Amino acid sequence: MKQDIENMTGYFGEYGGRYVDEALIPVLKEIEDFFKKSMKDQEFLNELESIQKSFIGRPTPLLYAENATEALGGAKIYLKLECLANTGAHKINNAIGQALLAKKMGRTRIIAETGAGQHGVATACICARLGLDCEIYMGQTDIERQRPNVFWMEMFGAKVVPVTCGTKTLTDAVDEAFRVWVTRTEDTYYLIGSALGPAPYPDMVREFQSVIGKEVKSQFKQIGKELPDVMIACVGGGSNSIGFFSEFLEEESVQLIGVEAGGTGSSVGEHAVRMTTDQSSVNCIQGYKSKFLQENGELLPTHSISAGLDYAGIGPQLAYLGEKGRITFSSAKDTEVIEAVKFFAKHEGIIPALESSHALAEAIKIAPTLDQSKSIVVNVSGRGDKDIFITSKAIDEGKWFNFLEEELERHKLGQ
Ligand SMILES: *Cc1c(COP(=O)(O)O)cnc(C)c1O
Repeated sequence: MKQDIENMTGYFGEYGGRYVDEALIPVLKEIEDFFKKSMKDQEFLNELESIQKSFIGRPTPLLYAENATEALGGAKIYLKLECLANTGAHKINNAIGQALLAKKMGRTRIIAETGAGQHGVATACICARLGLDCEIYMGQTDIERQRPNVFWMEMFGAKVVPVTCGTKTLTDAVDEAFRVWVTRTEDTYYLIGSALGPAPYPDMVREFQSVIGKEVKSQFKQIGKELPDVMIACVGGGSNSIGFFSEFLEEESVQLIGVEAGGTGSSVGEHAVRMTTDQSSVNCIQGYKSKFLQENGELLPTHSISAGLDYAGIGPQLAYLGEKGRITFSSAKDTEVIEAVKFFAKHEGIIPALESSHALAEAIKIAPTLDQSKSIVVNVSGRGDKDIFITSKAIDEGKWFNFLEEELERHKLGQ
C-alpha cells in the first residue's frame, strides 16, 4: 500500500494521473525524473535535512496533552506540534522540498497558487531564503479577505498577482497559475501547495510532508511506546494528513482518521465534505482524477470556518485510501471547531489553527470512548494566530468590534 518512489506511477487505483495541457507533459516528466533522482541523492537529502533543522525548526515536538487527557477521561492524547514550524504551519515542509528541487533544476522563478494565503506565505518565505523570484497567484476576493498574509508575502519580496476571473478565489488562482506556466516553463517552476494536481505532485508533496509521520514514529519510540492506536488529521487538499499518515499505512493496528470541514450544514455550499457525502463525484479537474464537489466539471461552492479546508477537491491518494477503508473519514462542524480551539487553548496552552481544530474536535469526541491504555496522536497542522479575526468574532463579537473601530481611529490619527 505504501508508495515506493522508484515504482510510483502517479496513480492510486483509478485516481491521480496527469490531465493537463499537452505542452506540460514533458515538463512534468522532467520534474518527476529529477525528483526520483534527488530522493536517492545523499547530498540533496542532507541539504534538505539541514534546512529542515536550521530553518523550519524540525523536529517539531510531540506533546503529551496531559490536562486534556485528564479532562476527557479516556485515551491518552498526544499533539504533533507542526504549529511550531517556521511560518506557523506544515506547508513550509513541502514548499522547501520543492523549492530546493526547482533551484537544483536550474529554475529561477517560482510561481504558486494560494487561497487563504498560507501556502503563498510558505512559498514566498523559502524563495526569500533561497534567492528565487516568486509570484503568487491569488483570487482578487481572497486578496481582499486575507490582507495579513498578502502583507507578509510582499514583505518576503514576492509579487502577489490578483486573479480576476470566475469566482476570484482559489480555484481560479490554480487555473491561472497553470495558464501562466504553459507560456513559460524554461525558467519557471510551479510549486503546488497540497497533495493534489497532476503527477508527480501528489507523490512529491507526500514525500516532503512525510517528515511529520517519520518524526512521530521515532518520538513515540522515544517515550517507550510501540505505535499509537489512533491518528487524526484534518483534510483540505490532503498534504498534512498524508504526510502524517504515510509512515503508518502498513501498520494495520493504527486507525487513521481524516477530518473534513462539516461547515454549517449538509446542503451544497454549506460544507467541504467530499468523502462521506453523495454530493461528490469522480472527475478530472485541475490536472488530476479524484472525488470533487462538482457538477459537469465545474466545482461547486464550499464553506468552512477555516479557509484552508474550504476546497472542493481532495488529493487522489486520500480518495483512494478512503475508498479502500484504510483511512476513515469524519467531519467537524464550525461550532465544534471553535469549541475545540477554546478547549485546547485553555487546557494545553496552545493556539491551534481552525483547520487543525477539526482534528482536535474529533479527538474530543472519541477520546472518552476509548480505554485509558489507548493513545491518540493529533496533527496540529498550524497555529491559529492568523485566525484571530474569525475566532474572536465567533467568541466575543462586541469587544473585538470595538477594538477594530478604535484601532482604525488610532491609525487615522497616526498614533
Ligand atoms: C492549508 C492548511 C491545511 C489544509 O491543507 P492540507 O493540504 O489538507 O494539509 C490544514 N492546516 C493548516 C494549518 C493549513 O494551513
